Amino acid sequence: MKKEKWYFPEYYRHFSCKADKCRHTCCSSWRIPISKAEYQTLMNMECSDDLYRRVQRAFEEPDFITDDCYRYISFNWLGQCPVQEKGLCALHREKGEHYLPKVCRLYPRSLKKISGHNIASCSSSCEAVLELLYEHYRMNFISECLELEPELQYDVSEEDAVQIKHFQDLLKDRSTTLTESLYQICSVINEHEFLKDYASDEDPLSQALQLLRRFSHSNQRLRDIALPVIERYSLNGESYIKDKEAFETAYPGWMEFFERVINNSMIYENFPFVDKRADKTDSYRGLCVCYGLMRVLCIGNHFFNREKDSLIDALAALFHLIDHTAFYYNVSAITDNAAIMLKL
Ligand code: SF4
Repeated sequence: MKKEKWYFPEYYRHFSCKADKCRHTCCSSWRIPISKAEYQTLMNMECSDDLYRRVQRAFEEPDFITDDCYRYISFNWLGQCPVQEKGLCALHREKGEHYLPKVCRLYPRSLKKISGHNIASCSSSCEAVLELLYEHYRMNFISECLELEPELQYDVSEEDAVQIKHFQDLLKDRSTTLTESLYQICSVINEHEFLKDYASDEDPLSQALQLLRRFSHSNQRLRDIALPVIERYSLNGESYIKDKEAFETAYPGWMEFFERVINNSMIYENFPFVDKRADKTDSYRGLCVCYGLMRVLCIGNHFFNREKDSLIDALAALFHLIDHTAFYYNVSAITDNAAIMLKL
């Protein structure tokens, strides 16, 4: 593989997997799809008896089989990938990185060639990435020649590339608050819809709780964190105001941290061109809901657990939903007045 010039946010070069030190390894509670070619390679490889046994019970059929999603990695009774052993991957150890399914090999990285430019980033669903973002790294891009291969290649028009950059710059602008920056981004995308949404007198907290309830349904990690929060604010919405103050006092840098996390997800998702089925209006709605859920989940979770690790875990669980499902598409289908989430 030849070295090429890659652009990436500054934290990227400091990322390394925490392996057995990870509190919620990505090999647990996540339906990882593998392709037909990958499945066949694993079924036919030569390996030790122990690895053979692990691989044989590692997969299950999805409801709809395609060449790209031919099997899911199943979970053992601990909710973990059966190939994993004490937080380390037995396949990686015995056969090397080359044999890992693409998702396992790349996660949490995204390697894209967009209009001829190589862009690398990592998902905000990985706790090691969030810990780097929490520390201090600004979301400035740097470049370096690296031996990497893009997993996805596509083109965007020059006009769209300018807009992507403009949105990232708006978010990084520290002369405005985070919600003012988000307000501006949404207004550029669809001012008419956004202002109509924003003017709604619906209660943003009730909407956030409703969405958290729906989204947690099929996501165990998010559910564990969200359920106590939903219960607390459903019983007494007033306590949100008090909790908000406590959270912002405990984390005076919360706004910059949230800005970096959202910006990182925007880069990872190529915001506002996030999903072939979602248009840019869907994207602004998803962005507002992303902010609102971050606020309610982190503020509520802080009431129950004041540790920094717990804040990171709440965000990692939320970004498992945002970065690895059809979040923007689904949000648009099930949410009215998404813009009010900026009021949280
Ligand atoms: S979530 Fe991140 S730190 Fe944890 S095992 Fe996965 S890649 Fe490593």
